[in-house]
Amino acid sequence: MSFSATIKKELTQLEAKPCCRRAELSALVRMNGSVQPKPGGPVVEITTENPSTARHVFTLLKQLFQVQPEILVRRKIRLKKNNVYMIRLSEKTAWILSMLGIFRKGSWERVEGILPDLLKKPCCKRAYLRGAFLAAGSVNSPDSGSYHMEILSTYHDHSQGLLDLMNHFHLHARMIERKKGYVVYIKEGDKIGEFLNIIGAHPSLLRFENIRIMKDMRNSVNRLVNCETANLNKTIQAAMRQIENIRLIESEIGLENLPPRLREVAETRLRHPDVNLAELGQLLPEKVSKSAVNHRIRKLNEMAEKLRENGKTSDEPSST
Ligand SMILES: [Zn+2]
Repeated sequence: MSFSATIKKELTQLEAKPCCRRAELSALVRMNGSVQPKPGGPVVEITTENPSTARHVFTLLKQLFQVQPEILVRRKIRLKKNNVYMIRLSEKTAWILSMLGIFRKGSWERVEGILPDLLKKPCCKRAYLRGAFLAAGSVNSPDSGSYHMEILSTYHDHSQGLLDLMNHFHLHARMIERKKGYVVYIKEGDKIGEFLNIIGAHPSLLRFENIRIMKDMRNSVNRLVNCETANLNKTIQAAMRQIENIRLIESEIGLENLPPRLREVAETRLRHPDVNLAELGQLLPEKVSKSAVNHRIRKLNEMAEKLRENGKTSDEPSST
């Protein structure tokens, strides 16, 4: 099950307060519903691909209006997609649509934005957002690449209403136009967490926050590791240079002809190319400090540099 589907399942299992049911159902019907004119009176059809959302709409309609809607399942065969569930309501439709603040009382005039009457209490504001998310919301799983939560709505005025409602809760939501309508979205991980909290998706919120914290931690661990790797690379590069120099001395002079202290360091370095200077000091027959090793290594490096200088002059063709 996708992260969005898990959240939706959780949301439909919440017991909504009686005052909140109208707001939640209003968002669901407005965003997933359509009105069909029929000889016996208009029929309202609410469609969703999510079975728990379908059950939830059915229950809310029954609880609020004491009606008996039908539930239909349509299988999408052509496209390998989810089933479509449809709640069909054919009684008291005009009254229900006006009670839900979708059409104006006694007319078929659509209410613009969100009817303020639905949003009087803070709990009902949250319920409206919950309904909107159930109807047309999705959120990326926190372990996917990026944080993204969005709700799609057909009408600009309604999306503006959702945007205002989200930003009433300081969620930093924004809106863009898409082919199918207007999308209100949140991009910040902490704000998506707050949104999940506001709509009441608490188990998913915990999962979301755990993964988010793990991800942030992993990022800072990676930064540390990169830093250490850089230091390690420096040590290795220095050791490589030293070995190159020692090899040059070996071939030009012979290590056996070096003063004993330098010879010890040179031979130990060749045997242990991967240790740092402090460790190298501990590997010598008579243990010495890092600075003592450093001093001897510098001598070897200077010696090699001189050999290179001399090599150059003798290799260069005479100008006379
Ligand atoms: Zn309420």
